[in-house]
Amino acid sequence: MSQYNAFENFIANIEKAAAVLNLPESDYANLKICERELKVSIPVEMDNGGVKVFEGYRVQHSSLRGPCKGGIRYHQDVEIEEVKALAGWMTFKCALANLPYGGAKGGVIVDPSELSEKELEKLTRRYTIKILPFIGPNQDIPAPDVGTNSQIMSWLMDTFSAMKGYTIPGVVTGKDVEIGGSLGRAEATGRGLHIVIKEFLMLNNISPATTRVAIQGLGNVGNVTAEYLHKLRCKIIAVSDVSGGIFNPDGLDIKSILQHVRAKKLLSSYEEGTFTRITNKELLLTPCEILIPAALQNQITAEIAKELKAKVIIEAANGPTTTDADTILAQKNIPIIPDILANAGGVIASYCEWVQNMQGIKWTVKQVNEVVQTHLIESLNLVIQTSQDYKISYRLAAYVVALTRLVKAHKLRGIFP
Ligand code: GLU
Repeated sequence: MSQYNAFENFIANIEKAAAVLNLPESDYANLKICERELKVSIPVEMDNGGVKVFEGYRVQHSSLRGPCKGGIRYHQDVEIEEVKALAGWMTFKCALANLPYGGAKGGVIVDPSELSEKELEKLTRRYTIKILPFIGPNQDIPAPDVGTNSQIMSWLMDTFSAMKGYTIPGVVTGKDVEIGGSLGRAEATGRGLHIVIKEFLMLNNISPATTRVAIQGLGNVGNVTAEYLHKLRCKIIAVSDVSGGIFNPDGLDIKSILQHVRAKKLLSSYEEGTFTRITNKELLLTPCEILIPAALQNQITAEIAKELKAKVIIEAANGPTTTDADTILAQKNIPIIPDILANAGGVIASYCEWVQNMQGIKWTVKQVNEVVQTHLIESLNLVIQTSQDYKISYRLAAYVVALTRLVKAHKLRGIFP
């Protein structure tokens, strides 16, 4: 198990927000335990004829504000405490973005790059069958996360529909557009990050042209963020992937780098232009205006935080900063725009997809982008205002806003029976 218990860190943040709001424990005790935790076995007949049994989870943290919502992660290091934290973060992310959703998350312990396409399809279909009684458009709506994509969501939708006897597109978001996916969903998280950054720079009177950016991770989220920040004229000076990073203080050739990684090639084989090779640690310690961790959780540890030289951190990944690092960064006056705010563009676009599915309508990409932008800017302003009102960090302010809404929902609904 990881040395950081992400779920305990999540509870600690709830407690801190409750203290700011002076709430009695009974107002929020229901958020300290997940509503449902499901553990499943997933037998898959492999291409070589053998059978491999994988382990997976689906955790529903809270349905206080609506059906549970959250992605499914395929990764070799998935563990239950992490899935619980990810589910809890979804509850707070949806509440902060003011979406009518609760929070959930799923995970399967598997390295998807080691499976063939056929094995991946079998794994997805069997996992869907195992969690089938607990998901549905009004119950719990999965979406892509680390290691999953629109094809996996399409198989999930097909399996769920086949078992029910008719097509139910609203059971999952992040599907292919041809079968009920939404325009604008695939790039919504990265695009949303750039909206938050653009607004933040504007509010602080900083010109994008003088903004040096370092991005850790060039996956679904990191590569779209890089593209949009490049278009905004920010100077992207360092990027990395699992194979390591590259650095150029005068700015990297983002177009050619993105072409390379989008062709599913590693940065270690990138040879164009001038740059220096750096490690992932060096990337995190790059002197820059904005550092964007867009990989996995627990990347910015206390050790990294002590030496970190960025002026602002914008969390694209979920949970990239450990709690002890958070404290050190606060002492160093390095503000953090937290994950539940910065990367909410994805789930806001998921909400647009679900609304379209439930009503049998189709929105233009402009309509989707407008909804994403409105919700993000509203949340950002509310978080900044709350942080000024209470003199607290942006992370704590985000928890305060979300917790206020969750406690209100709890009071209105009461306890049954
Ligand atoms: N997995 C994404 C997240 O962590 C998207 C969730 C969704 O769209 O439901 O926010």
